[in-house]
Amino acid sequence: MTDASSGYRIAVVGSGPAGFYTAEALFKSGIDGVRVDVFDRLPVPFGLVRGGVAPDHQKIKSVTRIYDKIAQCPGFRFFGNVRLGRDVQVEDLAAHYHQIVYTFGCESDNKLGVVGEDLDGVYAATDFVGWYNAHPDHRHHRFDLKGARRVALVGNGNVAIDVARILLAPVDELAKTDIAEHSLATLRESSVEEVVLLGRRGPAQAAFSPKEIKECHEVEGVDVVVSKGDAALDEVSQRWLEEHGSRSQQRNVEFLQERAAAGPGPGPKKLTCRFLVSPAELLGENGKLGAVRIQHMRLEPDDHGTPRPRPTGDEEELACDLLFKAIGYRGEPVPGVPFDERRGIVANVEGRVVEAPGGDVRVGHYAAGWCKRGPTGLVGTNSLDAKQTVALMLEDHRQGRMLDPSDDDIAPLLAERAIDAVSWDDWQRLDAWERAQGQERGKLRHKLASTDELMTVIHELRSR
Ligand code: NAP
Repeated sequence: MTDASSGYRIAVVGSGPAGFYTAEALFKSGIDGVRVDVFDRLPVPFGLVRGGVAPDHQKIKSVTRIYDKIAQCPGFRFFGNVRLGRDVQVEDLAAHYHQIVYTFGCESDNKLGVVGEDLDGVYAATDFVGWYNAHPDHRHHRFDLKGARRVALVGNGNVAIDVARILLAPVDELAKTDIAEHSLATLRESSVEEVVLLGRRGPAQAAFSPKEIKECHEVEGVDVVVSKGDAALDEVSQRWLEEHGSRSQQRNVEFLQERAAAGPGPGPKKLTCRFLVSPAELLGENGKLGAVRIQHMRLEPDDHGTPRPRPTGDEEELACDLLFKAIGYRGEPVPGVPFDERRGIVANVEGRVVEAPGGDVRVGHYAAGWCKRGPTGLVGTNSLDAKQTVALMLEDHRQGRMLDPSDDDIAPLLAERAIDAVSWDDWQRLDAWERAQGQERGKLRHKLASTDELMTVIHELRSR
């Protein structure tokens, strides 16, 4: 174990991309003897790379090789299975570190706020994503895919696309990945034939990336279907795309218009993209979803010229067996950490935590990643984000604007409280075990989905 006594010690809370990029930027700061302790409430590291990125996106998941290298830096320690607000409090961290960085992401989801949201058959995409990725928080969910033919999927960001692809992809292909075992069993029973993506704005404002929507069309047996009416741009969007549209937005429109021109295609499964529609009410019988009443929208530029959806007054009913909401993640308050309720993130100004939105800076406390800026951007976006926060931390370090810790190593406190912290060595042994178990099952990795099971295996591996 690394000697924890040093002149500059930092606690990072959350071991996803933002946590690792923060550690990396600190190690690259050139300051001698910098010590970074990374905490995670789960026994396993990597946050959304393990628990969010889809199992058939192993190339994105391979970014963990970079995190492995960061973890080899002298001065790095991992404390998994340690939850802030339960096992340690913010005051405990403040007594041991010069600076604390919150990088715990956004773990909850946005609500639609329409009647019928609590019907059986209505699910949050965030739950589905955690479930198929064997995230311990989500293993108990049940998705009633047996007998379901049409799924409505609200929102058209990349999470919606992941959900659609997992629902429609051949299960035998998914079985070779690191998908949760319990999900495979459910997906094998699925009778889903069509996923209808409901975008409240037009094709030019679709939030998915061109690569992601194209990939869906390349999945065996799946056609991306768009009607000519849905693919057409209204005047507001046409002008907006010409003046402000990014290359990605232009490519999305080109692809959707190509698909509209090509017609529905021969595949047995369809991903149908609808635009300018928004759920007004979820309809059911005997507590079970049967249809969604959707209102038609038109676009109106707001004060900044951004097209915003407004109801036209027209409505229709779309029969569906299940509905998934993929309308964005949202942060949850963590005890002792100031929270911006309106934005659903840690209260902060460009990464410096403030006592409340608009309030004073809380010296020594910082945020990076989704809990700093909200749930946007790709994995790599968090690298620049973390560097920006670390630049402020280093400036404050130079100025001596830091916490004044009395103790130099938190490990004795954790031992005193009998907290069973998972070290990086523990994780490496578990990692090798998961891969070996996966190989025996003909897949990349066998993930255990419960914290108890994970800890049992970690104990067993420790004793070997
Ligand atoms: P997102 O990109 O922000 O998309 C959210 C979608 O929900 C948008 O289409 C949004 O429409 C819609 N929406 C929000 N509120 C709504 C409401 N009340 N009614 C109807 N629609 C509503 O978020 P995300 O898909 O959760 O993804 C989060 C981040 O992770 C994104 O940056 C994404 O690119 C990234 N990600 C990347 C990958 C990948 O690279 N493979 C995979 C997954 C996630 P408006 O645009 O009209 O607000």
